Amino acid sequence: MSKYIFVTGGVVSSLGKGLAAASIGKLLEERGLKVAFIKCDPYLNVDPGTMSPFQHGEVYVTDDGAETDLDLGHYERFTNSVCSKESNITTGKIYYSVITKERRGDYLGKTIQIIPHITNEIKDSIRAVPKNKDIDVTIVEIGGTVGDIESLPFLEAIRQMRWELGDGYALNIHVTLLPYIKAAGEHKTKPTQHSVGRLREIGILPDILLCRTEKHITLEQKEKISLFCNVDRDAVIEAIDVKTIYEVPICFKKQGLDDLIFRKLNIKKEDKGLEKWADYVVERVKHPSQEVKISVVGKYITLPDAYKSIYEALTHGGIANDAGVVINKIDSEELEEAKDLSKVLGDSKGILIPGGFGNRGIEGKIAAIRFARENKVPFFGICLGMQLATIEFARNVCGMKNANSTEFDPKTEFPVISLLEEQKAVKDMGATMRLGAYQCRIIKDSNAFQAYKKETISERHRHRYEFNPKYRKAMEKQGAVIAGENPQKDLVEIFEIKDHPWFVACQFHPEFKSKPDKAHPLFRDFIKAALGS
Ligand code: GLN
Repeated sequence: MSKYIFVTGGVVSSLGKGLAAASIGKLLEERGLKVAFIKCDPYLNVDPGTMSPFQHGEVYVTDDGAETDLDLGHYERFTNSVCSKESNITTGKIYYSVITKERRGDYLGKTIQIIPHITNEIKDSIRAVPKNKDIDVTIVEIGGTVGDIESLPFLEAIRQMRWELGDGYALNIHVTLLPYIKAAGEHKTKPTQHSVGRLREIGILPDILLCRTEKHITLEQKEKISLFCNVDRDAVIEAIDVKTIYEVPICFKKQGLDDLIFRKLNIKKEDKGLEKWADYVVERVKHPSQEVKISVVGKYITLPDAYKSIYEALTHGGIANDAGVVINKIDSEELEEAKDLSKVLGDSKGILIPGGFGNRGIEGKIAAIRFARENKVPFFGICLGMQLATIEFARNVCGMKNANSTEFDPKTEFPVISLLEEQKAVKDMGATMRLGAYQCRIIKDSNAFQAYKKETISERHRHRYEFNPKYRKAMEKQGAVIAGENPQKDLVEIFEIKDHPWFVACQFHPEFKSKPDKAHPLFRDFIKAALGS
């Protein structure tokens, strides 16, 4: 039976609970445990698939095609755990299920209430994740901040689970903030005390506190927090700001967080240390041998979370090449007005166009692709980036004036990107794209094969539109290389061009499968090409 760690957050949002949960998972996995993760999101959307990146940040896609919270990306990057549709529980999903059961008559005449029906549904959904999977510890992160009305049913559910499971089988970790007040020259513990107080009001007593802070906290402060919050002194853990997120597990380990968890959960396992991670990942991110500037041209560049997995995968590509990646974020709309692109992109060693929806900024992206193609700058197009690379090639190389995707111009004369018949019938927007893992067959004479070193790969998708096979021959004649295809449906998955140092555009999202200690082959080779090697 799996043991459970429940992670809550207090004082403010954006404390990095997801990273804390992922780092805890990493520590446990390194000591030989099998971990699973769950993210509970207290919003009413069934999943984040229909939300704007401005609202939600990146939508992370799992192998089984779930559109999920970006914290699942942290979980998969830090550990070997595989997330699925079950790993992200939202209020919307819980209510949807309960109401469906009610309509079906499953509750046999009962009055359906938040307690116990909603809370039971949450508990069942949590228990379903580790079931029959040999999981030692399931880490459950509750989104939002303690004190929010929205998260109350989730907190009640984990309160009950902690009580039912008992000591040694479950524990509560609360992530909190210790603001440093410059004028007073000290940390303030009051917000943490209040936040723990709010948790106690609903019957949750944290076993461990992770205190986010800008500056080191003193023993005296730890003692004060311990006394006022009913938490052992050695269970008050400092979570100080670090240079790279990959340092967080090391920072926790130095304070014995894994031993503490083992003691509280009655687990005994050998400690093999975290040296490999420290030497290869953290050291290379902090002190790389060289630097390389990569431009990412997108429309959500003001939001650090919108292209989270892309930025991380670029860092991983850097690690594999012992290079620090300096990411130059360029607003595609601004590029539309730029007279001379070399002023903006001239010093970039590589250009990446990420995924996206809607026509705002696409002409700027197409201009950047043209710049990369003509000036032989290594280019990496992902999903929308691939579709736009095809459009650029059709327009500027094949002479198909105003070629476009029917997403942006339904009446275009050259619909080089268009909808499949099956997508034309789709009415509901939620969970209806081509989602999740699909196979791709790669041709040997391609940059993609150079990278993967195998002919059949599997990558994750999230899109509606596809390369239109009607234009394939015309493009191939002009030097386009269809480097990868879906073996079942012949859909074009990878588009490359000849006579260019490295121009790879893929319909799938490789960024979701990159890890710091195992860079995705395409990101690794893109950075390699950008370094000129
Ligand atoms: N908007 C495009 C489509 O739906 C690309 C999607 C994406 O980049 N994820 O096909």
